[in-house]
Amino acid sequence: MAKQPFQAESKRLLDLMINSIYSNREIFLRELISNASDAIDKMYYKALTDESLTFNREDYYIRIEADKENRLLKVIDTGIGMTEEELKSNLGVIAKSGSLVFKTKNEMKDGHDIIGQFGVGFYSAFMVADKVTVLTKAFGSSQAYKWESSGADGFTIEPFEKETVGTEIILKIKENAEEESYDEYLEEYRLHSIIKKHSDFIRYPIKMEVTERRLKEGSDDEFEEYKEEQIINSMVPIWRKNKNELTDEDYVKFYQEKHYGFDKPLKHIHIKVDGTVRYHSILFIPENIPFDYYSKEYEKGLELYSNGVLIMEKCADLLPDYFSFVKGMVDSEDLSLNISREMLQQDRQLKFIAKNIQNKIKRELETFLKNDREKYELFYKTFGRQLKFGVYDHFGQDKEVLQDLLLFYSSKEEKLVTLDEYVSRMPEDQKYIYYATGESNDRIARMPQTELVADKGYEILYFTEDVDEFAIKMLRVYKEKEFKSVASGDLGIDEDSKKKTEEEEKENKELLSYMKETLSGKVKDVKISTRLKNYPVCLTADGEVSIEMEKILSAMPN
Ligand code: ADP
Ligand code: MG
Repeated sequence: MAKQPFQAESKRLLDLMINSIYSNREIFLRELISNASDAIDKMYYKALTDESLTFNREDYYIRIEADKENRLLKVIDTGIGMTEEELKSNLGVIAKSGSLVFKTKNEMKDGHDIIGQFGVGFYSAFMVADKVTVLTKAFGSSQAYKWESSGADGFTIEPFEKETVGTEIILKIKENAEEESYDEYLEEYRLHSIIKKHSDFIRYPIKMEVTERRLKEGSDDEFEEYKEEQIINSMVPIWRKNKNELTDEDYVKFYQEKHYGFDKPLKHIHIKVDGTVRYHSILFIPENIPFDYYSKEYEKGLELYSNGVLIMEKCADLLPDYFSFVKGMVDSEDLSLNISREMLQQDRQLKFIAKNIQNKIKRELETFLKNDREKYELFYKTFGRQLKFGVYDHFGQDKEVLQDLLLFYSSKEEKLVTLDEYVSRMPEDQKYIYYATGESNDRIARMPQTELVADKGYEILYFTEDVDEFAIKMLRVYKEKEFKSVASGDLGIDEDSKKKTEEEEKENKELLSYMKETLSGKVKDVKISTRLKNYPVCLTADGEVSIEMEKILSAMPN
C-alpha cells in the first residue's frame, strides 16, 4: 500500500517533536485521553440534539491497556470515531499548524516548553512511540479503518474489521536507547500517576486494570495478587462542587494532595464565575512563607485547567507579583486546550480571569481584615512585606488595590492599624499623616523628631521595614491626606511660632553660622527649632526623603 505523505508543515512539526527532548513527554497520554473525551463529548452532543438517540453514560468510557511484553500501550474510547475522510484530514495534517509550528519553534528557542503547556494533540504520541496505529469506526458508518504511521515519513489507511463504534489508539512504545528509557510508559503505577496528575477530572471514566493484593482464601497471613479493572480518575473535581457541600478539611486535603505547600492553608477562596468568561477556582493563602519564596527559584502562578484538563502547572499571568504567595488553580471551559486556535483570544480570556482573580483576592483579604483581625495580622506578618512591595512596584499603579490592606504600628494605639483607622481618628487641625522611620519601634519612640508631633496628640506610624517609606512615597496621599515624615523640615504644625523663630534666628546669627562652619560638609543648615522638648538638638531631612531612606538609598548598589 502506498504511503501518503504528511503535509509539509505537519512533517516539520513531527520532526521537531520527535527529535526534541521534552522534560514532560508524559503529556502525550493527556493528549490522547483528551481526544478520547472530546470524541465522547461529540457523541453526547449528538444524543442531546438527536431525539432518536439515547445516551447511556455507562456505555461511554476510556480504557487504558498496557502490554509490557509487546511494548504496546492502548487508549480505547467509545466516542464518535472517524471516517476514512476524517482520518485523512484530522490525522494527516495539523489544523492551522502554521501558527503551531511558529509557536513551537519560538518557544523552544528561549527555553520554554510550550509543548508541556498547551495541547499539541495527537502527534505528541510520537514522543514515546515509534509506531502509532489508529483503529476506528465512525458513528453511523458500517466500515472501520486502520490508520498507521511510523513518524515523519507518512501514513497508510486501509479498511479494517471493528465491531463497535469508537477509536483505539495503539502505541508501539520506543525501545530504550542509551540514556533514554521508555519502560515507564508501560508500568501500571506510572500510568496511574500520569492519569491522576493530568486527567483526573475528565468527565468520563478512565478505566485501567490494576494489580491489587488480597488474603489468600483460607489463609490469614498469605497474600495473593489479582487484577481488577478500576476507574482511575475522580471525574468530579472539588472545584466544581458547591461550597456548602465542602468542609474545611476537604480544602486542606486538596491543598496537601496538590502539594501546594507543606503547611496548611491559612485561608481558602472558592470562586465560581458564570459571566462572559466562565471559570472555577480554588485559591489558598498559605500559613507559612514557602521555603523558597525569597529565592530566585520561586515561581509564582496557578494551575490552569481547560475543562478539567491540566494544561499548565504554573500560569504566572494569573497572579500579580504582590499576590505571588497565593496558591491554587483555575479551571475554565472557555480556554482552548489547543494553541493552534487563536492565541490572542485566549490571552484576552486569561487576562479577564487574572483581573477577576486579583479583585477577588483583594476583596477576600479586606473581609479577612475586617472579620478576623487577629488571623489577618498573622497573615500580614508573613506576607505584608509583599503587599508593600506591590504598592511600590510599577510606579504604584496598583496602589488602590493594596492601600487598604496595609498595616503599620501606631504610636498611640501601640499596635498595628490601617490607614483608614488612622485617618478616621485624626483631629480636625491635623493636616498630615505622620510617620517616623527607624530600626525598631523602640528606637523610633525615642527619636527627638517625634516629640512635637506626639506632644500635639497626633498619632505617628512607625516604619521599621526598608520598604515602608518607599511604599508610602508611592501612595503620596491617603484619603486626601498627605504623608509626612516627622523628620522633614516643615511639619505643618508650628505656624504661629514662625515669627518667633525668625527673631531668635536673627539674635543668634553668629552662633548659628559658627555651628554651620564647624559642621560644614556634614549638615546643610543649622536652624532654631520649636519642635524640641527634652532634646537640645535633632537632625532633620532637607528634601523629599527622610534620613533613614537616604541611608537605604546610599547603601544600594548603583
Ligand atoms: P485537537 O484535539 O486539538 O483537535 P489533535 O491533534 O489532538 O488536535 O487531534 C486532531 C483531530 O483528530 C481531532 O480534532 C479529532 O477530530 C481527531 N481525533 C483524534 N483522536 C480522536 C479520537 N480518539 N476519536 C475521534 N477523533 C479523534
Ligand atoms: Mg486533542
